[in-house]
Amino acid sequence: MEQQRNWDSIVVGGGLVGLAIAYGLGRLGRSCLVLDAGDLDFRAARGNFGLVWVQGKGSGFPPYADWSMSSSRSWPDLAAMLHEQTGAALALEQKGGLDVCLTEDELSTRIAELTTLSQHQNGRFQFQALDRQALAEIQPGIGEVAGATWSPHDGHVSPLYLMRGLHDAIHHQSGYVKTSCPVTAITQTGVDIQVTTPDGHFTAPRLVLAAGLGNRALAPFLGLEQAIRPQRGQIMVTEKLPLQIRYPMVTLRQTAEGSIMIGDSHEDAGLDVSSTRPVMAEIASRAQRILPSLSDAKIIRSWAALRVMSPDGYPIYDQSPNIAGAFAVTCHSGVTLAAAHALDLARCIHDGYLGPHLTAFSERRFDVSPA
Ligand SMILES: Cc1cc2nc3c(=O)[nH]c(=O)nc-3n(C[C@H](O)[C@H](O)[C@H](O)COP(=O)(O)OP(=O)(O)OC[C@H]3O[C@@H](n4cnc5c(N)ncnc54)[C@H](O)[C@@H]3O)c2cc1C
Repeated sequence: MEQQRNWDSIVVGGGLVGLAIAYGLGRLGRSCLVLDAGDLDFRAARGNFGLVWVQGKGSGFPPYADWSMSSSRSWPDLAAMLHEQTGAALALEQKGGLDVCLTEDELSTRIAELTTLSQHQNGRFQFQALDRQALAEIQPGIGEVAGATWSPHDGHVSPLYLMRGLHDAIHHQSGYVKTSCPVTAITQTGVDIQVTTPDGHFTAPRLVLAAGLGNRALAPFLGLEQAIRPQRGQIMVTEKLPLQIRYPMVTLRQTAEGSIMIGDSHEDAGLDVSSTRPVMAEIASRAQRILPSLSDAKIIRSWAALRVMSPDGYPIYDQSPNIAGAFAVTCHSGVTLAAAHALDLARCIHDGYLGPHLTAFSERRFDVSPA
């Protein structure tokens, strides 16, 4: 049935990036088929920390700072739309977030970085530096840390509720998410783009490549490179506890259900998704220094997942130079950027042109001549 239908667009990859774009295309009236690979694939969308975060994003790359800020601002709209359409409650909370610093050096480096970010943004990005005493007033139980930075733009959400909400909304819009259907080739056939899978061929005039780490193998079909690499992150989850974390922190957040998520590492470990004791011990030790009461908490789950990292850590958005109507998208902040992907990037893809605010994200930025 999916093969016979005339789809307006195909999205390759059913992680958070692909689903957000497919949802956005569906809102604009484009019927959308999402093709996702196997359950044992690498899936950052199912193993992440759930922060909607602006603090520190793009201090060396102003277009990314603007993009993250605009997504954070659009997040309440995205959550409201998904709720209205599907009844999904995403547990979105955006009342600010903390980056806690253990030492004075960490704190002064952090403040310098955020000051630069604020200057890039002509003051639109706001933050406050808090010494330990000021921090203890808003976060009781804080340990012997140097202080923190707080920004009102930050928040958190349940990434699993988000995935389910997007999934349901796509089906409401007469789209379809087809699983266990890896794409192996992409070609142009007349005005259409054809993808090959073990279940046969599918065609549409628009295609978005959003296969996470799978983009690297598929991008050459579009005449692109997408030089991404995996970066491992490990996370631990406690039993459900009474409310004790008032604001999400970069490495600690309390979910709507009460468990505390503790994360996360940044490791070059290839495609290895095992969790390791030394890294877990380090993560736990930092968490206890920030919130000593956590030393009594029981850890009930832990996992590792792979980030989708570009050479400079910023998103890569491109239009194929070879196949008209084909785009490739990758990023390592798919939760934060879900609103921008659904409401802004999807419109550009619908219109067939990445707007001027997105040209800085092309992989052409890596084409630096040796001279
Ligand atoms: C530990 C950790 C913590 C994180 N914390 C945060 C956070 O707090 N906030 C935030 O904003 N981001 C966070 N992220 C990043 C976020 O999870 C990712 O940016 C986002 O999930 C990427 O989504 P994606 O759709 O690009 O990739 P994925 O979720 O990896 O999905 C890619 C999909 O493509 C499919 N696929 C692959 N190859 C093919 C193929 N050939 N054909 C069809 N389908 C294919 C796969 O099956 C998979 O489902 C974190 C990531 C990790 C690992």
